[in-house]
Amino acid sequence: MPKLVKAHCPFCNKHTPQNVERVRKGRESSMTHIKRQRLLRANGIGNQGKFSKVPGGDKPTKRLNLRYRCTACKKAHNRAGFRAGKFDLVEG
Ligand SMILES: [Zn+2]
Repeated sequence: MPKLVKAHCPFCNKHTPQNVERVRKGRESSMTHIKRQRLLRANGIGNQGKFSKVPGGDKPTKRLNLRYRCTACKKAHNRAGFRAGKFDLVEG
């Protein structure tokens, strides 16, 4: 995906060139339900459950978090991400 795309800016209310930034996930909360479950497993408590890719557990691909920064007004807005296993931003 190119770093610079033409997209609608809700602030300028028109299509403008916009820089795409990938938003990194913040620090994970330390004691989510799934982590407690894993901790119990690591201590040998409870059974191992199923090891399948999708039902239960995390999905193999994550929805991307992208931020679009308008080059005209310097404001950023978010758009719904899409799923991809691999994602790269390239110049131009
Ligand atoms: Zn704008």
